[in-house]
Amino acid sequence: MNEKTIIDHTADSLRSSLVALGMPSYSASQVMRWVYGKGAVSFDEMSDISKKNISLLKEHYHLGRYPYTLSTLSADGTKKYLFAASGGNIETVTIPESNRLTLCVSCQVGCKMSCAFCMTGKCGFAGNLTCGDIINQVLSVDEANHITNIVFMGMGEPFDNIGEVLRAIDILTSDWGLALSPRRITVSTSGLIDGTRRFLDSSQCHLAISLHNPFHDERRKIMPVEDTNPIADLVALLRRYDFAHQRRLSFEYILFDGLNDTPRHAAGIVQLLRGLPCRVNLIRFHRVEGSDFASPSEERIEEFARYLSHRGIIATVRRSRGEDIAAACGQLKNSLRLNR
Ligand code: SF4
Repeated sequence: MNEKTIIDHTADSLRSSLVALGMPSYSASQVMRWVYGKGAVSFDEMSDISKKNISLLKEHYHLGRYPYTLSTLSADGTKKYLFAASGGNIETVTIPESNRLTLCVSCQVGCKMSCAFCMTGKCGFAGNLTCGDIINQVLSVDEANHITNIVFMGMGEPFDNIGEVLRAIDILTSDWGLALSPRRITVSTSGLIDGTRRFLDSSQCHLAISLHNPFHDERRKIMPVEDTNPIADLVALLRRYDFAHQRRLSFEYILFDGLNDTPRHAAGIVQLLRGLPCRVNLIRFHRVEGSDFASPSEERIEEFARYLSHRGIIATVRRSRGEDIAAACGQLKNSLRLNR
């Protein structure tokens, strides 16, 4: 944690930090109210804090807020933002859909997981985001006051940066923070087992697993994480938690032509997930320049969905969003690094 950055702090850590500076303990609540309740971008706006304490705050802290450097609007309303975070450039996406506005946040600069189909994976890994970098994405997009849902599906593997991600979730869901219901937040993982356990033990947010192939020997070829975190072991862990009530479990499955879209793969999914309260989101692959992967036909995708549905697995086919601005699933990248 960067102790000097306000939006890196939880209420408790800020309180003890401010008290150590000689400020009253209620100052932390005042600061939090300004930052999260009123969207303050400078200490000078905090009119109910004494001049002396504003000077102390300015001397010892910065808010941690910084604006985006670029935004691009898709024809379908999806909007992609570029932020110059401390460790490098990251991308954030807002996705409007009927009465929802979903924000897709990044948690790392690049990613170590090297999934074969993902642009972020191809960028390599340049560093973890701090909790403040994650929260700043939520506070600094143009639609900040209208966001209804947050998904950790941008750049990076959340459970490879789990300390910062859990602190960000604390800020997002606490009354002193942004007071969002955990049911409005979904965290997506490629399948890190220890991180999944820690997340499930300490949060009530929804969980999404990137599945993409039910078979160990095939999955490891497109997702190296499978070598050390076999999907069968992860599913065995998931069976120990309750997903039948408030918390939702979903599996993301990008369909690749001829690679994971056969009846054998559909049968493998049915066997792997039998009896687990969950849904499978089937996603059309977004063609990436230089990639050997391709999307199956619409008929094949529908056929795959029907196979699952007829065998008791809730399966939905997800609409493509933001492809024209490279904001779709697996297309986010550290733009400046790639352009060099
Ligand atoms: S799909 Fe997710 S976990 Fe895999 S390389 Fe891309 S960002 Fe990382």
